[in-house]
Amino acid sequence: CSTELLDRQQRWESNARTYSRHLPIALAEGSGSFVEDVDGNVFIDFLTGAGVLSLGHNHPELVRAVTTQLGLLTHGLDFPTPAKDAFIEAQLSMLPAPMRDRVKMHFCGPTGANAVEAAIKLCKIATGRGDIVSFQGGFHGSTHATLSLSGLLAQKRNVPNSMPGVHFFPYSSCARCPVGLAPDTCATNCVEYLERSLNDSNGGVPLPAAVLLEMVQGEGGIVPARADFVRRVRELTRELDIPLVVDEVQTGCGRTGTWFAFEQYGIEPDVIVASKALSGIGTPIAVIIYDAKLDTWAPGAHIGTFRGNQLAFAAGTEAVRIVRRDDILGNVRRRGEQIADRLTALLVNPWVHEVRGRGLMWGIELADPTTGQPASAFAAEVQSRALRSGLIVELGGRDDCVVRIMPPLNVEADVVDTACSILVDAVEAGHP
Ligand code: PMP
Repeated sequence: CSTELLDRQQRWESNARTYSRHLPIALAEGSGSFVEDVDGNVFIDFLTGAGVLSLGHNHPELVRAVTTQLGLLTHGLDFPTPAKDAFIEAQLSMLPAPMRDRVKMHFCGPTGANAVEAAIKLCKIATGRGDIVSFQGGFHGSTHATLSLSGLLAQKRNVPNSMPGVHFFPYSSCARCPVGLAPDTCATNCVEYLERSLNDSNGGVPLPAAVLLEMVQGEGGIVPARADFVRRVRELTRELDIPLVVDEVQTGCGRTGTWFAFEQYGIEPDVIVASKALSGIGTPIAVIIYDAKLDTWAPGAHIGTFRGNQLAFAAGTEAVRIVRRDDILGNVRRRGEQIADRLTALLVNPWVHEVRGRGLMWGIELADPTTGQPASAFAAEVQSRALRSGLIVELGGRDDCVVRIMPPLNVEADVVDTACSILVDAVEAGHP
């Protein structure tokens, strides 16, 4: 049963202190938007393996693609294979047309962090510069370099001496503006600060090798960047010849309603980092897609054993076919509007500081109405109440005060409806 398996895990595995601490269930099997624990309880899964299972659990066509490939070839290192070739073609076909002919793709190790590492290395080699500009509240991974690049301080507080040369600037987090300005009147002072710092040879930061940006901060608490902020960052990086790296590990592959979130901002980045939902079913894979002009690194500059996962290639190609055939991006937009309607109604509750989202990534930020401080205990209680009512959700943001949902991209309207009712009730039940 769940408790037995949790006890066993707690004895042997340090991961027992992550998700399973708040969500004390042991998983047995999943199907579509649902997952069943070993005790036979069924939950709506709006965590989806941290945004990995974009077409839900065990999509039958993805299962078929993987099992067919399993009988052919599983691991192919860097050798060309038909599965890899089809994957590259499928992925490139999802890019905005003007980008397709001028990009290259590099397969990294199996995780998002590995691809962020590759992106940074690529830019350092191409520019000959060493510094990186990153943003407060961002998250880019758990390796030393990517943790250093992450602006969520709590996660790196206990890791001394991280990578030098990283400069943090304010993100357009208007609900908690770091300098206390009002969103309507500030005219994106945050990007102005960046602009002045990059141009200031006296007190500013050295010209960096890259600017690393999330279009929607995921782990940071579902914070979509303001459009004027993103566009100005793009203009500025162009003017100063700084590669702009967009980390689409969480936002990519349809999560926000377009294949990549940057498309909604009308910009073209120099490097795209993608991983989580690339294969749609959790077979690990991570890539960078980058402007060919940056391709100055030597062959073998970023290698790693697990870069030729043929099962991930086969699933990823099939996932693209399904996304097109079933108008999955249309579903993301429609279900996203449905969620927006239901959750923004919560704003009348004084503990609901903000409701934010794009497509199918949404967050409810809870704060104490008298002090304005993050209501982390309340958020944890909402998560527990939701679980007891049959819905799995995640926490994130400042001190974990944001309740986050990331449903499968093919989630059905009635499932969204049920899940939103559970979530609304869990908030309306009030602070514990
Ligand atoms: N970048 C972003 C935006 C992420 O959300 C994550 C994972 N949550 C990562 C990078 C790191 O990916 P991984 O955990 O696969 O290393």
